[in-house]
Amino acid sequence: MRTYSFDVIVIGSGAAGFNAACRVSAEKSVAIVTEGRNKGTSRNTGSDKQTYYKLGLSGDMPDSVMKMAQNLFDCGCVDGDNALCEAALSVRNFINLCELGVEFPSNRYGEYVGYKTDHDLYARATSAGPLTSKFMTEALEKQADKLGIPIFDGYYVFEILKSEDRVCGLMTIEIVSGELVAFRCADIIMCTGGPAVIYRDSVYPIGHTGSTGLALMAGAKAQNLTEWQYGLASIEPRWNVSGNYMQVLPRFLSIDKDGNEREFLLDFFEDKYEALSTVFLKGYQWPFDSEKILNGSSVIDLLVYRERVMRKRKVYLDFTRNPFKIDTIDFSKLSEEAFEYLKKANACFGRPIDRLETMNQPAIELYRSKGKDIGR
Ligand SMILES: Cc1cc2nc3c(=O)[nH]c(=O)nc-3n(C[C@H](O)[C@H](O)[C@H](O)COP(=O)(O)OP(=O)(O)OC[C@H]3O[C@@H](n4cnc5c(N)ncnc54)[C@H](O)[C@@H]3O)c2cc1C
Repeated sequence: MRTYSFDVIVIGSGAAGFNAACRVSAEKSVAIVTEGRNKGTSRNTGSDKQTYYKLGLSGDMPDSVMKMAQNLFDCGCVDGDNALCEAALSVRNFINLCELGVEFPSNRYGEYVGYKTDHDLYARATSAGPLTSKFMTEALEKQADKLGIPIFDGYYVFEILKSEDRVCGLMTIEIVSGELVAFRCADIIMCTGGPAVIYRDSVYPIGHTGSTGLALMAGAKAQNLTEWQYGLASIEPRWNVSGNYMQVLPRFLSIDKDGNEREFLLDFFEDKYEALSTVFLKGYQWPFDSEKILNGSSVIDLLVYRERVMRKRKVYLDFTRNPFKIDTIDFSKLSEEAFEYLKKANACFGRPIDRLETMNQPAIELYRSKGKDIGR
């Protein structure tokens, strides 16, 4: 059997895999083994503006490693040591990406400005646009190439090998030839991404797999498996419709098999402006949250579910017309939060697509690049 030996094998060629391999290569011999160099969520998925989360690095809001670790820990799913490492290393890894050329926004004084998301008080979020994780992966891939890290592309790992209680290698199948190929190593870094099957019907790129089970079958103890987000997404193309896609107040409609169309949000909301304010809120409360059904925006996920799954209708977002046959939205009737946000963004006018053009042109371009003109 063809066999290779390295100190460390990194499985996966997303942002995590390339970054881990580059870091390790300073001290050990390392190779990347991947099912597909161009596969993975990092390179192939995103949203209106993909958010990168790190320690706050701008303005006068004091932040600290301990506070960030505490925030990660407080939700109850993250191991404390992992939370502390993630917080402590967040600056180093972020600056590395900036140095590698990922264009995170900075102001004229050189501060890496941040914004608040998911109720974070410290403006830790930043973004290089809808394709942030793609840019990150490409930059890290270039670095890995420069460092001469071997990449075994097209090798599917199907088993982790152990000698007594320690890892000693892994078994792969080379996808094209069907040949079994073994790798000997002392350590494995799993960078195989998220739980693919959970997203099978929504955003996970078709044909992509997740492989957490590999580690569990080898006896690894798991942490943090309950920490994931699920929310509204378009399926052609597969893309999250969070943030600005909701904040511009698109029309939600469903169509039956005969082409009959209806707006369904008013099945639940009695007041049109309350419905619009809730759609706005969906923008930054994007993931479904059972605690935000009546007291937040997750009721919209349930209404979409009812149309799509229970009534078997197709659900669309329409950016070409305002919802509920409103010709001119009276923005002052929205919740204060929505009104203030849209006012600051100079977006209190026109149709959803006009507002999106003002607030986030790349979010429109993104769909165009995938063959869908949401302006039509
Ligand atoms: C629509 C969408 C929007 C998102 N938005 C955000 C956001 O705004 N902010 C944020 O922080 N995160 C976001 N995420 C999550 C984020 O994209 C992922 O957590 C991250 O990209 C995972 O990176 P990774 O390198 O761990 O895995 P991936 O990039 O998924 O790479 C996994 C790699 O492992 C390989 N692989 C898998 N199994 C095997 C195997 N058995 N053998 C060999 N190779 C294997 C794959 O081929 C691939 O190369 C989003 C995810 C989606 C789907």
